[in-house]
Amino acid sequence: MTKKLLVANWKMNKGVVQSQQYAEDLRLYVEKTRLSHCEIVICPPFTSLEAVQRKINGSAISLGAQNVFYESSGAYTGEISTGMLKSCGCEYVITGHSERRSHFNETNLIINKKLMAVIDEGLKPILCIGETLQEHEDKITEAVIEEQLHICLAHIDEEAVKNIVIAYEPVWAIGTGKNATPHQIENTHNFIRKKIKKMFNEEISRSLRIIYGGSITPENSRDLLSPETVNGGLVGGSSLEIDSFIKIIESVKLNK
Ligand code: PEP
Repeated sequence: MTKKLLVANWKMNKGVVQSQQYAEDLRLYVEKTRLSHCEIVICPPFTSLEAVQRKINGSAISLGAQNVFYESSGAYTGEISTGMLKSCGCEYVITGHSERRSHFNETNLIINKKLMAVIDEGLKPILCIGETLQEHEDKITEAVIEEQLHICLAHIDEEAVKNIVIAYEPVWAIGTGKNATPHQIENTHNFIRKKIKKMFNEEISRSLRIIYGGSITPENSRDLLSPETVNGGLVGGSSLEIDSFIKIIESVKLNK
């Protein structure tokens, strides 16, 4: 059984001092409890990446970024490249988060370019996919996900795809307090595995890490993350307070 992966997405929250304090406290918790039952990734804003890395360096906690640009350098004011993220100690990069898609017009084609750049740099993409509320109500979730997978994973070979984490994040469940049910999550994860098998092969479809995101809380995390096909969770709001994130980490332990 693979370890569950828990990713904390702080979004646009926390300055450097707050980020450092959180990272220090989380490291203390991880070392005191000799945490080994799950893998933890924290994704602070760009401005805190280096400071957080200094605090978690050498620990069991990994660093992730929330976004990246696909060009490696040049006249792209305000953008950050994969090489810059690597130089800060990042191991993971969230790509295609629904907030990037909706607020910054990121399309599946753009996300594909970002994904390829992340892989070329030797970093691990966390590819977010999922349907909007309208698509959910129109019962076209599977068609939407199929299209997202086909476009976002175009030109990615079998070796590279093994390093990708897919985060199934129904858009209607992100930051709304309305989570998908364990049954809905399991069905969609199984659908994603079926498509991955068709696009790549059976071994990859079985081993690929697929996590769930959308209003995970300490109260529902055990239920939502327990199915075998769910390899972990992407946690937004409930990862901001360290006590709440630790409760989620503990709840995953109980699943063992
Ligand atoms: C997210 O940011 O990807 C997310 C799932 O947020 P929340 O947990 O707040 O719904």
